[in-house]
Amino acid sequence: MGDPLAFLSEQLGAWRQAGTYQRLRILESASAAESRFDGKEVINLASNNYLGLTTHPRLREAALEATRRYGVGSGAVRTISGTMSLHMELEERIARFKHVEACVVFQSGFAANAGTVSAILGPEDHIISDELNHASIIDGCRLSKAKIHVFPHKDAAAAEKILAELESQPGRKLLITDGVFSMDGDIGPLPALVEAAERHGAIMMVDDAHSSGVLGKNGRGSVDHFGLHGRVHVQVGTLSKAVGVLGGYVCGSRDLIDFLYHRARPFLFSTSHPPAVAASCLAAFDVLEQEPERIERLWDNTRYFKAGLTRLGLNTGMSETPITPVIVGDAALAHRLSAALFEEGVLATGIGYPTVPQGKARVRTIVTATHTREQLDRALEVFERAAKKLGVL
Ligand SMILES: *Cc1c(COP(=O)(O)O)cnc(C)c1O
Repeated sequence: MGDPLAFLSEQLGAWRQAGTYQRLRILESASAAESRFDGKEVINLASNNYLGLTTHPRLREAALEATRRYGVGSGAVRTISGTMSLHMELEERIARFKHVEACVVFQSGFAANAGTVSAILGPEDHIISDELNHASIIDGCRLSKAKIHVFPHKDAAAAEKILAELESQPGRKLLITDGVFSMDGDIGPLPALVEAAERHGAIMMVDDAHSSGVLGKNGRGSVDHFGLHGRVHVQVGTLSKAVGVLGGYVCGSRDLIDFLYHRARPFLFSTSHPPAVAASCLAAFDVLEQEPERIERLWDNTRYFKAGLTRLGLNTGMSETPITPVIVGDAALAHRLSAALFEEGVLATGIGYPTVPQGKARVRTIVTATHTREQLDRALEVFERAAKKLGVL
């Protein structure tokens, strides 16, 4: 008998052949504006550490203090005996910050999306979803077994047309979008989607993973950015990106949160955060409110770096946020450009299918508040040299 897993080796061989096989880069320092990967100091344009909070002294202290007091683990899932006072404090803190009734924290943003969509919808329901929504939303949709209707990227009129066609059909309707799209860095058309949802009685849900800590006052997200308080039923955010730690959350009405406490499977069947995670997230929300200059620096750096890439003549797509793709088309070329950048001291990840559509491969850059002008200038020089060498420019 042959090896029943031989097909895996064959597929890996094919990826090596195509130049899309990906070796993991190993981070040997803290995640910061400059970090050491694979033994090399590089300017890090590949993290989601937008505000530099992964190494913020107040977050570190909070994690250490919570560990000393409460140990390293919570001991159980939330519904058995793993709800610590720190978890409740964090949920109340986030609800106040977001100006909503209630909040539930999940182990990750992925768990928050997948767990929430699959809990509130069933096979008789309908989901109307942007074609570029995050994988965790797509998995949540599939787990729910609801009928999935995909609309073209950011096309609110197309979304409304689907809602209108479903008007006579039984079942609930959920309209769902990313606040900021993670591969293109463009912003979802939330005002138009909210109006469409309201006209057709649909549930409105937004995934603010890349908007939390980035958009809106003190980083309150896309609902605040667009002035739509009270009009989005389900707001998902992450604690893993700008907040600098790990986790995801859902904000909404008290009943939504109570329902998720009873039915969201990651909440029911997976152990809650260690005390250090909850405590450092709590400290992060204080930092968001008390150090707004971090968000200003993030946007200053974003404008500066984006203008630099555009001036070089690179294709940065539709980006409007700190996520700026450099679109090159071919996946193997994107990976070669990423490797050339790394050789010269810049980490920016090559991303191809299935993370982005075929023919839209890119090197994705993300600037943070903690990059210096000198680092950004150096990165631009490296981009110019590497892009010329590979014929991208
Ligand atoms: C990163 C991301 C998530 C997942 O968040 P984690 O906390 O890393 O699990 C969900 N949605 C979007 C749009 C993301 O970019």
